[in-house]
Amino acid sequence: MSLRIVVTVKYVPDATGDRHFADDLTVDRDDVDGLLSELDEYAVEQALQIAEEADDAEITVLTVGPEDAKDALRKALSMGADKAVHVEDDDLHGTDAIGTSLVLAKAIEKAGYDLVISGMASTDGVMGVVPALLAERLGVPQVTLLSEVSVEDGVVKGRRDGDAASEQLEAQLPAVVSVTDQSGEARYPSFKGIMAAKKKPVESWDLSDLDLEAEEVGLEGAYTVVDTATERPARTAGTIVKDEGEGGKQLAEFLAGQKFI
Ligand SMILES: Cc1cc2nc3c(=O)[nH]c(=O)nc-3n(C[C@H](O)[C@H](O)[C@H](O)COP(=O)(O)OP(=O)(O)OC[C@H]3O[C@@H](n4cnc5c(N)ncnc54)[C@H](O)[C@@H]3O)c2cc1C
Repeated sequence: MSLRIVVTVKYVPDATGDRHFADDLTVDRDDVDGLLSELDEYAVEQALQIAEEADDAEITVLTVGPEDAKDALRKALSMGADKAVHVEDDDLHGTDAIGTSLVLAKAIEKAGYDLVISGMASTDGVMGVVPALLAERLGVPQVTLLSEVSVEDGVVKGRRDGDAASEQLEAQLPAVVSVTDQSGEARYPSFKGIMAAKKKPVESWDLSDLDLEAEEVGLEGAYTVVDTATERPARTAGTIVKDEGEGGKQLAEFLAGQKFI
């Protein structure tokens, strides 16, 4: 039977752009370009490698995000994933990590899965909690932060590198894993892959497709909300010390004045 892999991919604001909060203190996503979270490219890569080793496998990439999040799905499809699911609904505005995991879990169940692969964290929220929340909601084992991963005879195996030791972990499928940026360089989409991606199926689901009510997600259902936010002050020109024999002394005085020493 085919190994069904679902990869969760997040569309994130480009960190090199100028990012702002909207009036309701959610991230202003209209104001900035987005892209597939770089850490999720590693998850797509590991899914592709597992599928290449398997007799028969199918990779679905899944995102919860606004209209433009389709760009993240297209990138993952052009890398080689087979199909995509986009969960999009106006009522998702303001959804926190707990709500996002609820929506993702419902979509994963609807899509059908043997293995879920996530990134170690998104590059915008960086909470690193969604894979564990997903495993709890789906009622399956979690094997997180893997720098090496493989699947054999219905078991997912991997290595988690810590500061003092490396652990070899394994879990019976179905399971959720997350992979780190040490798991192997993600491939670039080829021209052939980019062209093929245009013809791959992308399904769009809203909350009603997942039997979810608006109050369960969005700002209304969120356990975490931003209370206040302050714009970062504009960068100042800084202090230039011209060394005319007293440079070291002036530097030490500057550092002491800033309480660095
Ligand atoms: C339209 C919209 C508005 C939102 N507004 C807010 C808000 O105002 N306040 C707030 O706290 N949160 C908001 N969120 C949710 C937020 O952006 C995160 O998705 C959520 O908080 C998870 O936290 P994280 O990204 O730090 O996840 P992490 O736990 O760091 O992510 C780990 C992994 O989980 C997967 N993952 C996480 N999020 C998604 C996703 N959306 N789709 C697919 N895979 C995913 C990825 O594989 C990722 O590598 C919003 C989301 C959407 C779609």
